[in-house]
Parts: sequence; structure tokens; C-alpha cells
Amino acid sequence: MIATKSDAEIHKLIANALCLNFANTLYGHGNVPVHEYLKDYRDLVLWSCHAGILDERQADALIREGARRPTEAVATFHRAIALRETLFRIFAAAANGESPKANDLAALNSARTDALSHSKIDRSGDRFRIAWTDEAALARVLWPIALSAAELLTSEDLDRVRECDGDTCDWLFVDTSRNHLRRWCSMHECGNRAKVRRYLKRKRKLALQ
Ligand SMILES: [Zn+2]
Repeated sequence: MIATKSDAEIHKLIANALCLNFANTLYGHGNVPVHEYLKDYRDLVLWSCHAGILDERQADALIREGARRPTEAVATFHRAIALRETLFRIFAAAANGESPKANDLAALNSARTDALSHSKIDRSGDRFRIAWTDEAALARVLWPIALSAAELLTSEDLDRVRECDGDTCDWLFVDTSRNHLRRWCSMHECGNRAKVRRYLKRKRKLALQ
């Protein structure tokens, strides 16, 4: 049997930051067209695996755990979507040279506090890494996202956060290009569409001459 991948597993991770990739799991915040990559808790876990927050074993365990506790899974999913929209508003504001709203900052602070209360430093071979005290918690996928957002918001990279220039695209990314002139989420998608638009405009102009 060939398993088809869900949208959550083929979502393009173009942002150079976990928190922005998460914000980009909705295309078109408040705009049309809209594309939602996360439809339920299972999608959230599949995306987290795709984005490298969970390995496959952890993802399988969480999906099973979510199926055992459906009410909590739905509540966690709604919390995730609320956090995503908070992150989108905070970083879209930053990309446009505006300050985030106080209640969004408060929401991020509380997500960060929750993450830190479950965070610990663990030994991993001869290295150390951030690990979590409650591996079976359904909300554990939100913790690294909240910490990623806190890190980006307090780093110099905040100056490099951009919103895609594509007509209907509102994906966010950290511009890590050498000349800091990246304009699009992806050259293949929005960049090409812009090129085609410019080409058609030129052609129309020529036809009118
Ligand atoms: Zn775009």
C-alpha cells in the first residue's frame, strides 16, 4: 500500500526558523486564497516530525496518545493554532517595522514559561541538548516552537525577518542571503509568479505599441 502524505508532511520549510515555519502552516492569514496545512492534532504531530521536532518513534507515540485522549488532543490543537496566529502577528509586525501587540507578547510569554517549566538539559553522547521532562505530554510539540520564537524575537536576526513579496503570499522567513535582498518565500513559487507577471506586462505593452 502506498501511503499518501498529508499536507502537513509536504509543507515547505523555507523560513530558516522553526517558529516562522510554524507560522507558515497557514497560507493567507485573513486573506484569500487560504491554505491550511494543519487540520487536526494528528497533522500537528506529523508536521512536527517533518520539521524535526519529533523523531518518527516519538510522533507515532504521540499520535497514539492523542487518539487515547481525544478531548485533550482537540484542546491542544486549538492551543497550537492560537499560538501559531500569535506568532504570525508578532513576526509579521516585526517584518513591517511595527511593534507587536501587548496581548500577543503576553501570550508568547506564557507559552515560553510553560515550555521552560518542562525543559531540561540532557546528555546526548558527548554533547548536551535541550530535552523535555514530560515526553508523553500532548503539548510537547508547542514547547520548542515557543522557545524558538523567544530566541528569534530577542536576537539580531529579528531585523532580517521578512514577509514574502508575493501578491497573496504572507509567508514569513529570516533572510539569511548574503546581500539581504531575499524577497520571496521561494523563487520557484512567488518569485517565478512575479517574473511571469512582469513578462506578461511587458508583452502587453509591446502589443499596444
Ligand atoms: Zn511567497
